[in-house]
Amino acid sequence: MTREAAAASRIWSVAEHLDDILAHIRPLEPRELRLLDAQGCVLTEDVTVPVALPPFDNSSMDGYVVRTADVQGASEEYPAVLTVIGDLAAGSGELPTVGPGEAARIMTGAPLPPGAEAVVPVEWTDGGTGRRPATTMRFHSSAPEGAGGEVRVHRAAEAGQHIRLRGSDVQAGDLALEAGTVLGPPQIGLLAAIGRSTVRVRPRPRVVVMSTGSELIQPGEELTPGSIYDSNSFALTAAARDAGAIAYRVGAIADDAETLRTTLEDQLARADLVVTSGGVSVGAYDVVKETLSEFGGRADEGSSVAEGRVEFRKIAMQPGKPQGFGRIGPDRTPLLALPGNPVSSYVSFELFVRPAIRALMGLEPRECRMVRARLEISEPLTSPAGKRQFLRGRNEPPSQGEAVGRVTPVGGAGSHLVAALARADALIVIPEDTTAVEPGVELDVVLLGSASSAGGW
Ligand code: AMP
Ligand code: MG
Repeated sequence: MTREAAAASRIWSVAEHLDDILAHIRPLEPRELRLLDAQGCVLTEDVTVPVALPPFDNSSMDGYVVRTADVQGASEEYPAVLTVIGDLAAGSGELPTVGPGEAARIMTGAPLPPGAEAVVPVEWTDGGTGRRPATTMRFHSSAPEGAGGEVRVHRAAEAGQHIRLRGSDVQAGDLALEAGTVLGPPQIGLLAAIGRSTVRVRPRPRVVVMSTGSELIQPGEELTPGSIYDSNSFALTAAARDAGAIAYRVGAIADDAETLRTTLEDQLARADLVVTSGGVSVGAYDVVKETLSEFGGRADEGSSVAEGRVEFRKIAMQPGKPQGFGRIGPDRTPLLALPGNPVSSYVSFELFVRPAIRALMGLEPRECRMVRARLEISEPLTSPAGKRQFLRGRNEPPSQGEAVGRVTPVGGAGSHLVAALARADALIVIPEDTTAVEPGVELDVVLLGSASSAGGW
């Protein structure tokens, strides 16, 4: 047997195929991105705080700033009567000095004026109903009328009460976020709070999704005899976005080697990863395999696609047995060639493409989306020997007091069953060496969708 024939006949396990893909994928080079473009991305710099947060002492309540000595012993019966010298709103820049016997009205977030030692919440006062003296200054143009005059304070105040001190959140020079942090909404909020408008991260990979098949018609158009709608390019593009990528759907390409090659060459310019569906088995029109296989008809020497090579393999799994993986073009762009059956291509995405996208983003590729669940079936199920089977199912998390949840198969094993797939939220994993499963058996279940992904579009 030739080396090629031996390689072609080897059966790969799911884990071996994934390991091989991940061994050939490097995280993308970091780039400086605007904050909202960096959502879900991995930070590649340590971010230090340039200015303390809060940047100045400020009030955490709406109330009055006072000197503590002036309100010592104050009560409902014997309130402290203070002269209100001004109104401080958030954003006030010019600040009056609070002298003995004086108070200033202050809003949440407004800077503390000199002389002030505590904030008395408005509820502990009469609300400053006194007459407004001519000398009252207003320190914010939108200060409401009625400020000024006198305020009666009904309780004593402790120094520092309701004051948020400068630097009480973070100090200048502190580490705000460590390299390796995944930027979710709170981290993006912190970056904005310390004044950062851009940040260095590994960008979202650009994933080009192409389906192949001369039978494919785009949704919205009339079906012709023997044709079907192209659903894979939609499902895979949506899945790539869900995994955190920027995905481009090229749509369906006819089963023609030349068209596939030129389309690929055009698309490589904007791809960090290419995903194809269809044309990878041994049929007469299996154009992806024919065009990209290192064993089959290689592209012309002048073609940039020819610079790379894609290996087509048999994986010990069902659905999804035929798979292709390689790196093509001048940049050795990774390409995953998935089988055409809609369920096969989607299952292949979850098992191989999602981890590849995560690896490009610098995220842990093997996200933990596996749970254990008890199989809810009325009759025993059979499963092919030597293949890891992925059945579609609906997963129910454990109810109170239960150690594991339950999973119920939806639809059958047929890899054309898109309606059943749309009702599923999990893949039930039946191990390679298991040929029959009894009701109530506990199995691994892969949760589908973006529950814990880097997506969020
Ligand atoms: P293939 O792997 O190209 O032989 O395709 C296997 C099966 O999946 C065939 O029945 C195809 O018609 C179907 N199929 C292939 N590509 C798509 C697609 N993009 N959308 C829906 N069905 C497809
Ligand atoms: Mg096909």
